[in-house]
Amino acid sequence: MRFGAHVSSSGGISKAIGRGAELGCESLQVFTHNPRTWKPINHSDDEIAAFRALAAEQGMSPLVSHGLYLMNLGAPDREVPTGPPGKPAVGTRNIHRSSIESLVQHLVIGDALGLEGVVLHVGSSKGSTEDEAIARIGAGIAEALETAGGTCGVHLENTAGAGDTIGRTFAQLRAVADAVGRPERLGFCLDTQHLFASGYPVHEPGGIDRVLDEFDRVVGIDRLRCLHLNDSKTAFGSNRDRHENIGDGGIGEAGMRSILGCPALQDLPVILEVPGIEGTGPDLENMARARRLHEEGLAAR
Ligand SMILES: [Zn+2]
Ligand SMILES: [Zn+2]
Repeated sequence: MRFGAHVSSSGGISKAIGRGAELGCESLQVFTHNPRTWKPINHSDDEIAAFRALAAEQGMSPLVSHGLYLMNLGAPDREVPTGPPGKPAVGTRNIHRSSIESLVQHLVIGDALGLEGVVLHVGSSKGSTEDEAIARIGAGIAEALETAGGTCGVHLENTAGAGDTIGRTFAQLRAVADAVGRPERLGFCLDTQHLFASGYPVHEPGGIDRVLDEFDRVVGIDRLRCLHLNDSKTAFGSNRDRHENIGDGGIGEAGMRSILGCPALQDLPVILEVPGIEGTGPDLENMARARRLHEEGLAAR
């Protein structure tokens, strides 16, 4: 396992590598965009070169980005009113088209930075049927991959299953993958908190093995590129996306030991997106817990 964390890229994307190195990261996840706005960041050539050089110097790999939360490829392909929540609309936007455009930007900068992939939330159906949304998502990802070119891939992430989000079941992930085509550019990222919240019993003895057997049958374990390691603040099957520090939530130390000891996961990057002991995000304590529980999990197998 290559332990890593989601770290801030404020002050310039190359700063993320130093932040990761302070945490002892062997892999890393960053935002290449400001997560609150559609407007892309104009990364300078110097910043891009520094990011690549520092990552190589640290031997940090693989590197991934997390897509803008505003993206929803499942949104209907038409203009809808937009504006701050609870306030009158200030304009309109075609969220589906904007999401394709943004995904292209993510892939292009991802290639420039040498990222393996963009971790992407699948999207939600926004009033249309699930089948229609899956078709739109698949076509949107295929178009973005085609337009962007390069080698940076898309890693679809399973969701906690809130509301009309798609990606809470492996069958949905498979349906989206089939709608995209391009298996060489489309992989998957499983988030342990999202699995737990959507009713996959990863916290039970042997649970992770059964869950991954099912993933292998439905999607294919060879397409799993990344694990998001988070404990859960909310209950099993709650369908709520609330991350907790490693060992302190519903998955707990025993569950984490079993997940981290799982043979099928040993070659993956394992990225922490935890709130942190002081509430400042992934920290040394959580990294140390993950490594300790990994050792203990391996020993228990
Ligand atoms: Zn995640
Ligand atoms: Zn989450």
